[in-house]
Amino acid sequence: MRTCPECGGVMVYERSSKLYSCTSCGTAMNSQELLEASERARSERDKVERAKRWKDDYLAWWLSSKE
Ligand SMILES: [Zn+2]
Repeated sequence: MRTCPECGGVMVYERSSKLYSCTSCGTAMNSQELLEASERARSERDKVERAKRWKDDYLAWWLSSKE
């Protein structure tokens, strides 16, 4: 099952238009676009995760250095 890169909703394949369309927000894209959009969404999430981890590490270091 494919999920919408925009909202995380369920994407259904429409044979007539050869497009995947989101049942939640109505986004429609072909399989290539869907793949690229998913990749983008994933790398965005990774970036956020890394930034968050770095902040946690920094905070832990900062707190420990105060003692
Ligand atoms: Zn959607």
